[in-house]
Amino acid sequence: MPVELREFPEPPLEPGSVLLRTLYSEVCGTDVHVWHGRLAGVPYPIIPGHVSVGVAAKVRGEVRAVDGARVSEGDRLVFFDVHRTCGRCRACTVTRTPTRCEARRVYGITDSATEGLFGGWSQAIYLEPGVAIARLPESVPPETYISGGCGLITAVHAVDRAAVTLGDTVLVQGTGAVGLSAVALARLAGATRVIAFGAPVDRLDLARRMGADTAVDVQDTDAARRHQIISDLTGGLGVDIAIEAAGSARAVEEALTLVRDGGRYVIAGHYTDAGPSSINVHQLINRKHLEIRGCWGSEVGHFVRALRLLERHHTAVPWRAIGARTYGLAELNEALADAEAMRLPKALVDPHSTRV
Ligand SMILES: [Zn+2]
Ligand SMILES: [Zn+2]
Repeated sequence: MPVELREFPEPPLEPGSVLLRTLYSEVCGTDVHVWHGRLAGVPYPIIPGHVSVGVAAKVRGEVRAVDGARVSEGDRLVFFDVHRTCGRCRACTVTRTPTRCEARRVYGITDSATEGLFGGWSQAIYLEPGVAIARLPESVPPETYISGGCGLITAVHAVDRAAVTLGDTVLVQGTGAVGLSAVALARLAGATRVIAFGAPVDRLDLARRMGADTAVDVQDTDAARRHQIISDLTGGLGVDIAIEAAGSARAVEEALTLVRDGGRYVIAGHYTDAGPSSINVHQLINRKHLEIRGCWGSEVGHFVRALRLLERHHTAVPWRAIGARTYGLAELNEALADAEAMRLPKALVDPHSTRV
């Protein structure tokens, strides 16, 4: 499903809405799946780009940010890409799992282009009434925010679900945008040893800069070798916590052999169906007294806390290095191909770039 450029008229602005002049959006793993038509429920054609940053070009009526402050034209804004979460359904109210609300929609993924400017690979984005908006903290460059991007917000949720305790040893599987941020956040959450499994080499180097003590190349090692590495590092016990951000069914099988008895495993990377994992439940879950937690989507709180983390730590944690190259609108198919081939940790999109 190649990306095509289209022109749209400027939308009418409802009271309570904002027209954002896009500064940056990003290409994430989900966009590659959407490009190939591998994600269910995508109402093509769409304007991709779910996490973005921009400047308020037009504000209609009184619009308040999530901190209650009034939004003005000229503000540098970021917004939570999930909108229309209903607040009334079983998921929203009874089970308190709003990321499973069936009414929720996501900018750049489940919003059709026939409905308007609901995606970041566009020079303007329509923030409809009710979208959770925040001002980008003054000290945080927009390039840094978008380089953390959706991976950082997902990682905040995953590390929450991991419930890291001071002094834990944490294994992160995957050194994409989610895994890299999970490494940094596990460290900030109090892990005293963080191990990253991933590839290619440049991402492993970045994982070390993000806070990994050990970064293991999964293309150079087999599962037996990696088991030995974990065993050596943990005195034969296994890691306290593993976080999956690899999107691989084999990674799940492997992690269960690497987590210690009574440890915890968070699965955050299977956003699309990677097929079944084959697990000996007796040996690896029941007898090990293991805790396994899924992690689906994110909530406004993860987005807001991601902003606080960036504000406090962006000079020490190299989130900016994740967004290695910026592409213009005419280069998006190339950006997707580069993302898929893992030629860079993350491609950024500047829709106003004149590069062709
Ligand atoms: Zn994403
Ligand atoms: Zn709901």
